[in-house]
Amino acid sequence: DEDSTSTTGSTRIRILCRVRPFLKHETTDDCITLEDRTVRIVNQRNPAEAFRYEFDACYDAQASQSDLFQRDVRPLVDNIFKGLDATMFCYGVTGAGKTHTVQGDAQNPGLIPRTVEYLFTNKRMRNKLKYSVAFTYFEIYKESVFDLLVPRDHHSSSGLPIREDAHHNIFIPNLTEQSIASYSEFQRAFQAACRNRSTASTKLNVASSRSHAVLTVQITWHDTVRNADLRGRVHLIDLAGSEDNRRTENGKDRMAESGAINKSLFVLGQVVEALNTGAQRIPYRDSKMTRILQQSLGGRSLGMMIVNVAPGQKFYLETYNTLNFATKSK
Ligand code: ADP
Ligand code: MG
Repeated sequence: DEDSTSTTGSTRIRILCRVRPFLKHETTDDCITLEDRTVRIVNQRNPAEAFRYEFDACYDAQASQSDLFQRDVRPLVDNIFKGLDATMFCYGVTGAGKTHTVQGDAQNPGLIPRTVEYLFTNKRMRNKLKYSVAFTYFEIYKESVFDLLVPRDHHSSSGLPIREDAHHNIFIPNLTEQSIASYSEFQRAFQAACRNRSTASTKLNVASSRSHAVLTVQITWHDTVRNADLRGRVHLIDLAGSEDNRRTENGKDRMAESGAINKSLFVLGQVVEALNTGAQRIPYRDSKMTRILQQSLGGRSLGMMIVNVAPGQKFYLETYNTLNFATKSK
C-alpha cells in the first residue's frame, strides 16, 4: 500500500461536525444551518448573534451511520494494516449524539461495531492465520482508569496504574485483553462490557456520561518480509459530556468530577491544537487520557475528532461553546 500520510512526518487531526436530528419530544427550533463544510449558528433570541465555523467535513441530520463510517472512518481503520495506529474521539455535551455515533444501537450500529465488522470482512483478514485480533475497553473517571471487561466489584477504587517500558511504550499492566476470532464473538463480549459500564456508573451514582470510554481494537501479526512482529490499533472514544456542571450543581464531589472532566477535555484540545499547528511541545502528560494515547496521536498515526451537536435553540449556548472549542483545536 502507498503511504500517503507520512509525507511531512506528522498528520493533522481532522475535525468533523455531526448534527443530530430532532428527537420526538423536541420542538423543532433549529439554530444551526450547514453549508458544505461550514456550520452557521444563530441565536434565535437575538438573531444578530450569528457565527460561522469551518470543519474538515460536516454531517447533517439525514446522514447515516454508514455514510460517516464509509467516508471518514474506514480510511483511518485501513491504517492499522500498515502497523500504524488510528484514534477517533466524539466530543460534545450530553445529549448531542456521541454514544449514538460511537456505539449506536441494534438498529443503527455505530462506529465501534462497524469497525470490527469491517476488520473481519476485510480481504486482508481472509488470511486468518496471519492476524490475531483483540480488544480492550476501559473508562477514565476522575483521572482513574477502570477496566470495563471485569465486573466493578473487582476494581480497586484508585483504578489501574499506567506504566512506561524501556522503549517508552505506554501501557496499563493489568488491563484485560480479550481475544476475538469473529465479529459475533466481539458483539457478545462488547455488549457485556457495555452493561458493565452502566451498572458500574449506577453503583457509583454517576451518569456514564461523566466518564471517557476508550475502546481499542488491536491486530497483531508476524511480517515475514521484515521478520518482525507488527501491531496496528484503532481507538474509538466516547468522551465525557463537555458541559460545565460547576455552575449548576454543587457538592464537593461534583466539583471535583467536573474539574477532572474539564481539565482532561481542555488538555485534549491543547494536544490536538499543538499537533495541528506543529508546536514543539505537545502536552500529552497533562492528562491520563492523552498520556495513554500518546503513541496513537500525532506522528504517523491518524486522528479524528467528531464534534457532536444538537440542532435546537435549547442547546444554543452549549453548541456555541462546543464549536468554539473545536475550531480552536483546529
Ligand atoms: P450523548 O452520548 O452525546 O449524550 P446520545 O448518543 O445518547 O448523546 O444521543 C442522545 C439521543 O439522541 C439518543 O436518544 C440518541 O438515540 C439520539 N440520537 C443521537 N444522534 C442521533 C442520530 N444521528 N440519529 C438519530 N438519533 C440520534
Ligand atoms: Mg453518551
